[in-house]
Amino acid sequence: MVCPRCGQTGFKAAAGREEDCGGGPEIRTGSLDCLGCGHGYPVRDGVVDMLAAPSAEVIAQQKATLFADLNSEHEGGGFAVNAENIERYRQQFLAMPAGDGSELYTHGAFRNVANLAPDYFTFVERLELTGGEKILEIGADSCWSVAGFARRGCDCVASDINHHLIVSDVFMREHGIYFERVVADMNQLPFRGASFDVVFCSQVLHHSTDLRQTMSEIARVLKPGGRLALFSEPMYGLLFFWRRRFFGSEARKIGINERIYSLSKWLGTMKSAGMQPELYFSLHYRYRRFEKSLGIFRNRRVKRLFIRSRIYPWLILEPYRVDVVARKE
Ligand SMILES: [Zn+2]
Repeated sequence: MVCPRCGQTGFKAAAGREEDCGGGPEIRTGSLDCLGCGHGYPVRDGVVDMLAAPSAEVIAQQKATLFADLNSEHEGGGFAVNAENIERYRQQFLAMPAGDGSELYTHGAFRNVANLAPDYFTFVERLELTGGEKILEIGADSCWSVAGFARRGCDCVASDINHHLIVSDVFMREHGIYFERVVADMNQLPFRGASFDVVFCSQVLHHSTDLRQTMSEIARVLKPGGRLALFSEPMYGLLFFWRRRFFGSEARKIGINERIYSLSKWLGTMKSAGMQPELYFSLHYRYRRFEKSLGIFRNRRVKRLFIRSRIYPWLILEPYRVDVVARKE
């Protein structure tokens, strides 16, 4: 790791309390003290907070997440993510992303995750992970995805700005795995250059208000030949581009940054950062009803042809979602 204040890479762990949380002993409370500037980065519940001087934007987003947990009306209501509720919904967290058919998944806060699950699994299979990769997940949230990578044997770091990272204990204890959890700003990642084989993001980067800076940080921490895997980011195409103004309006009302970028902006910022993008398209759940009513889409060859077609994203009514794997040169 790198100190966001002084750029030094040496740290001294000041342990308050150590505990075994599944994959061996770790510091649960205490701090990581920079050997360069002396700044102490607090560790709480095993999560190290590397935000030395969080920007106003990051603070606003953290507050908005707390509010959104309780007020996700469009998702059928939510709950505060705290120790009590994590225990209460333990089985539901463990069932992420596909779910266990419970209310939380059919009408509640996990509905979005459940809807995306089939596409998520297809996308991850395409990455053909060997289990030896070093993976950073940005916007790891409750860590269900990073836990899946750790279960494949990958060496993982989960980062986010919100407090949901504490859910990670549920997965580590259940599966006997370990991964690091770091509170970090995606525009100033506290990691050394060329550290990761894969940077994974699921519906995260559209929250960035400075996509160019975010991409440049991602490219910096990727090893040469490493890949950025971007899953299910919103974009707008040629038809109905005006609908982008309605995108994420519910979330925006409570202060969450919701941006919808064009495909050329997505690909352009990756290329500028020195990454070569390759597009993937999932038949997003919004369009699965067409799959059901039109038999032709059930034909695997037709589906593959459709998905591989470069014009496909431009034809779909918006907003649509894009999946990209970009390789650092
Ligand atoms: Zn420092």
